[in-house]
Amino acid sequence: MKTIGLIGGMSWESSLEYYRLINKFTKKRLGKKHSAESLMYSVDFAEIEKMQHRGQWDLLKNKMINYAQKLKKGGADFIVICTNTMHKLAADIENEVDIPLIHIADAAAESIKNQGLEKVALLGTRFTMEKDFYKDRLKERGIEVIIPWEEEREIVHNTIYNELIDGLILDKSREKFQKIINNLYVRGAEGVVLGCTEIPLLIKEENSPIPVFDTTELHAKAAVKFALKNC
Ligand code: GLU
Repeated sequence: MKTIGLIGGMSWESSLEYYRLINKFTKKRLGKKHSAESLMYSVDFAEIEKMQHRGQWDLLKNKMINYAQKLKKGGADFIVICTNTMHKLAADIENEVDIPLIHIADAAAESIKNQGLEKVALLGTRFTMEKDFYKDRLKERGIEVIIPWEEEREIVHNTIYNELIDGLILDKSREKFQKIINNLYVRGAEGVVLGCTEIPLLIKEENSPIPVFDTTELHAKAAVKFALKNC
């Protein structure tokens, strides 16, 4: 089994899910008493979040490369970034750290394709919804992507940073998300990518009229699949 190197803490609420899921999927595949070989480098998110909002992506790039290098030195065979947003820097990590990186948008794309969908909505932080790095990765795989309107993006972004990363799961926010997903459905989305690793804590399949793609779960599954490839 390969050792999974997780860059976590963004936020720790969703890193808990990664840890639970990679062990759950490993046990499912290998049987009782089995669990995943993994390392997690977990960061202080307050510092990261400030840099994101100040647009200090060069500083963040150096930090992310450093975390990945530490994981490699510790024995990780490959890297899993436990956040959609920080995949903005995935290519930089790949250039500097010579172990594979399992990309979260590829895990989402594979599942979207398997369900035969062509047009999906993307929910996530403003960075994920508005910058090109994530949408392009899906588009390159033949998937059309739409994002919420400006005022809806504001709600999604603020809910992530003011509630979900602090473990606040509120019914009134779930209702707002459901309205936004319904609007995206009316605009032609056949599915919705929960492109922030905390959104699945708020929104489940039953809260949506269209299939949801839980990127935390899909990414954890892809990591376990890679770790157990030759087992
Ligand atoms: N976990 C989130 C994501 O998947 C947001 C936190 C972050 O900015 O990294 O994008």
